[in-house]
Amino acid sequence: MDIRHYTVALNVDPQQKTISGYTEIDLNLSKATDVLLFDLWHGLTISTVSINGKKQNFTHTNDDLVKINLSKALPAEKIKVKIAYGGKPGVAERAPWIGGFQWEKDSKANPWISVSCQGEGAKIYFPCKDHPSDEPNEGADMIITVPKGLVVAAPGLLQKVTTKNDKSTYHWKTKYTISNYCLVFNAAKYNVVKRAYTTINGTKVPMEYYVLQENMDKAEKLLDLYVQSAKILEKYFGEYPWAKERIGLSETPHLGMEHQTNIAYGNKYRYDTLGDKHFDWLLHHEFGHEWWANKVTNKDWAHMWIQEGICTFGDAMAIRELGGEEAYLQRMKSTAMHTQNKYPIVRGDEVDSDSAYHGDIYGKGAFFMHTLRYVIGDEIFFPTLKKLATDPQYTYDNFVTTDDVEKLFSIASGKNLKPLFDFYLRTTNKLEVLVKQTGDKTYDLSLQNFDMLLPVEVTTSAGTQRMELGKKPVKITSDTQPVIDEKVYYLKRVILE
Ligand SMILES: [Zn+2]
Repeated sequence: MDIRHYTVALNVDPQQKTISGYTEIDLNLSKATDVLLFDLWHGLTISTVSINGKKQNFTHTNDDLVKINLSKALPAEKIKVKIAYGGKPGVAERAPWIGGFQWEKDSKANPWISVSCQGEGAKIYFPCKDHPSDEPNEGADMIITVPKGLVVAAPGLLQKVTTKNDKSTYHWKTKYTISNYCLVFNAAKYNVVKRAYTTINGTKVPMEYYVLQENMDKAEKLLDLYVQSAKILEKYFGEYPWAKERIGLSETPHLGMEHQTNIAYGNKYRYDTLGDKHFDWLLHHEFGHEWWANKVTNKDWAHMWIQEGICTFGDAMAIRELGGEEAYLQRMKSTAMHTQNKYPIVRGDEVDSDSAYHGDIYGKGAFFMHTLRYVIGDEIFFPTLKKLATDPQYTYDNFVTTDDVEKLFSIASGKNLKPLFDFYLRTTNKLEVLVKQTGDKTYDLSLQNFDMLLPVEVTTSAGTQRMELGKKPVKITSDTQPVIDEKVYYLKRVILE
């Protein structure tokens, strides 16, 4: 099946901590079938399932599978599945890392509701096909009903608000393709602070912050930082990806998440200083995911470093823009030091999200981009990275793998970079550089465990130069012991002999 569209319509009761309603799934069947499968957390209860308006038999088992047994096989065609359900959704244990619902309160004891489910999947609260490789290409509608007085923020554009008796219904709609875990909402006594942002291509996009009333006085400053980050991200990665809708931000009780057009922000206005500017690392990082995760999406969790690692490299680009090249190099040195190398970054071609997700997909992933930048040079690296974020074959309805990224950079640079990608992404090895003293002032330099020529900075008594090193020893002369890769472009081990 190919999912085309979701409608998630729910009545949300913060007092009972329950949800009830339905999800409609529009999909194309690629071949005839008499059974359909979906994912929904087993703790929720399904009341009815229908296909094209006709009720169907189903089972819903403890492994979170909804199996619809059709009395008559369906041909390969477009169908509409409607699943009515409800109950108490799982509460987040440690959002956003261990996600679920958060039924929190603001400082005046008003309900403050948030959903996060990147690791668990959207099946924790609505029925779906829960795999990153199948997004609803025609977008989604979210129709969320809450007690009157609460405001709901969700993806896309707000269509309308209807209030009846003591309840308000917010209808949000996105026409863009979107990851399941971004199809979430927040509700609170929000105020909305707005301004217009003009993209790098000249498109005017509304920028909106759904802020708790108690933090109204902090909203304008945060939007200033949002604009600052937008300019940096657009410079490196191209126009804001959802320019036909909006640049959204919602204040959440958890730290943050990259929810498309509605970034979750919970960093509590704690700013760093870079150069003479303030900077919110969390805001910048989650916003960077609008390009790396939401627009450029991994085909399988196995390649999640493309989302987290390149997004983290985008954080380093902010440091470069605001603090300068030297500050960027310092950041990369400390990233290298914090690399754990316990597991490879890519652990197969299809793995589950738990195996794919570990600390190194961020730092080591970003550091790998730093290595790549050094190996192929800025003139090829930066335009190629922008191409990855803008070319239709890698974006929106299309998905990417590590091999796609490798081939793109290999073709752009005219070098076979596969050995380098494999070495740093599919193993935990470090580059071993042997410095062998052969005479009073002479040395042989070689790579021990890597069979490709790599540029390496070598500092001798004559100064620093970029040299090509490989398995075959290169002879140099120096009055002092040579220093290898002083600025740290590689994760490496230097062996002195
Ligand atoms: Zn991230």
